[in-house]
Amino acid sequence: MGAVRRIFQDKTNDVLSKLRVEFVGRRGYMGVSEVDGHLIMSADYLSKGNRIDIYLDIVHELVHVRQFMEGKELFDHNFEYVERPTEVEAYRVAVEEARRLGLSEKRICQYLKTEWMTDEEFRRLAKSVNVEFMPATKREREIA
Ligand SMILES: [Zn+2]
Repeated sequence: MGAVRRIFQDKTNDVLSKLRVEFVGRRGYMGVSEVDGHLIMSADYLSKGNRIDIYLDIVHELVHVRQFMEGKELFDHNFEYVERPTEVEAYRVAVEEARRLGLSEKRICQYLKTEWMTDEEFRRLAKSVNVEFMPATKREREIA
């Protein structure tokens, strides 16, 4: 809960009590609606995904919930995904939380490297969030 309080500060209880969470059957992980900022989670990922990945994804998405409330553009296609300021901030907060949990840099790289990123994009993201780039990292995030 500490990480969540750091995201919303004194608005935490208010935001969490009003936040709508939609569970969808389709594959994928989770995201924030660009229409009203509610949280969308894959029920499949929640039941089969790695618990640490799920937790860090929730932290990441809650940063987007706050950004949406602040009126920020979450899907600004003027930026590539790994360089979009809203993504970099969300990844930074998730990495901070991962370190607090004691995850190794290698494990953090495994968390960060998703299938929609090329190695080159991943290298840039790792740099933006100050994680040591480990090119041999194998993605282990697929849901079964
Ligand atoms: Zn994101």
